[in-house]
Amino acid sequence: MRQNRLFNRTRLKLAAWYAGVMGLILSVFGVAVYSHLAQSHFSAIDSEIQTLAGTLHDSLEPVLQQPGQLDSRVKQILPGLCMGNVPCQTPVQTSHIHVLGVGKQDSYYVQFVDLASRLLATVNTPPQTTIAPQGETWQTVSDSQGQRYHQFSLLLKTATGQPWGYLQVGRSLSDYDNHLESLKVFLLLGLPIAMLLVGGASWWLAGLAMQPIYNSYQQVQQFTADAAHELRTPLAAVQATVESTLEVEDLTLPEARTTLQTIERQNQRLSQLVHDLMMLSRMDLKVLPMKQQTCCLNELLNDLAEELSALAVTAQVSLVIEFKSQSLLYVVGDEEQLYQLFTNLMINAIQYSMPKGLVTVQLLKEDYSALIQIRDIGVGIAPSDQARIFDRFYRVNRDRSRKTGGAGLGLAIARAIVKAHHGSLQVQSQLGKGSTFTVRLPLQQMRHLS
Ligand code: ADP
Repeated sequence: MRQNRLFNRTRLKLAAWYAGVMGLILSVFGVAVYSHLAQSHFSAIDSEIQTLAGTLHDSLEPVLQQPGQLDSRVKQILPGLCMGNVPCQTPVQTSHIHVLGVGKQDSYYVQFVDLASRLLATVNTPPQTTIAPQGETWQTVSDSQGQRYHQFSLLLKTATGQPWGYLQVGRSLSDYDNHLESLKVFLLLGLPIAMLLVGGASWWLAGLAMQPIYNSYQQVQQFTADAAHELRTPLAAVQATVESTLEVEDLTLPEARTTLQTIERQNQRLSQLVHDLMMLSRMDLKVLPMKQQTCCLNELLNDLAEELSALAVTAQVSLVIEFKSQSLLYVVGDEEQLYQLFTNLMINAIQYSMPKGLVTVQLLKEDYSALIQIRDIGVGIAPSDQARIFDRFYRVNRDRSRKTGGAGLGLAIARAIVKAHHGSLQVQSQLGKGSTFTVRLPLQQMRHLS
């Protein structure tokens, strides 16, 4: 396939399309996975902050007395509390955040802001950027180093229900941002690698998909070449005969008759070839009308034996028909085609037999099938040729077969007929010992049952 430019180009185009489509799907999928992970991770952070804020809110409100005032009971609840703007040095493990059991405690902070947006106290170090809260809000802020924080503000009330100030709970988004960054790098590096693999796989798959097309393309080419060759031979013979006859000045009647007989012979060969080719192509296209007749195989084989007896005598071969079944065997099909099937097989058996040979045709019943075995003790077929003899124009030994006059289409036609009748055709052969061709056809009652 690689040597053929048309197939190579088509394979390349197919692989490129496939890789392009796969690349697009992978990219869309990558973006979807990225945004889904980013969103679900962010929601997890949100709910963790909200839980922490809610718990603190519930434990602090009953102990708050004066708006904007934090007394010792608040410090008991939050042991790591630092007053005012002083950075908090308390080890994180002792803070209330740890007590609440949130993961990554060091990335969390808590700060208290009074109603005038003044910072009152903190737990852990909050970002320098403080935005005045207004009610219950979510904020994402960045510090001077560009580190992002996500925080939730909640209005606190005193035990008597007066507005006290705001509780802000937040956390650093650095682990979230790092995680997304590494995911982005993984996807951006992974995509070209995946594309390379997809490209290679596409090329291989395109080759696989095109192989059967290429094989049949080659078969068509081989068929055309063989057909042209087979047609050329008789045409060349006619041409040569006509030319040599025309050179004879005083052509006698017997000479003219001989020439015409040669032309007729070659013409018959051409007609037979064209007939066989047309039959094969019509069977391929399934446009050959096939009659559904009830055919008695016993009668058909008897008739054929009678018809071929002269040929058998000429070839010094005994032709014997044996019916192994008690009853007559019937199949449904096209009688003319079945006739041609057995003619081809029996003529071959006679032609490829040695003088004084024996051709036996046996008809027997096996389960719901009729088995017709055509056996000869002739030249036989080598195992390497057995699979190919059913190919069009295939002849084992071209010189030897040429003498028999065949073009190598007989078995191809036989196989096509058997297939059209839902049967099978097999060969068993040993070089120098003979061959057995076995035709299996479904019996009439079986066809009716199915
Ligand atoms: P052909 O017209 O040449 O006989 P076929 O398609 O009938 O073409 O057969 C293909 C080839 O198979 C023949 O050329 C011959 O070599 C081989 N063949 C077919 N039948 C027999 C047989 N009974 N014994 C030996 N060789 C056979």
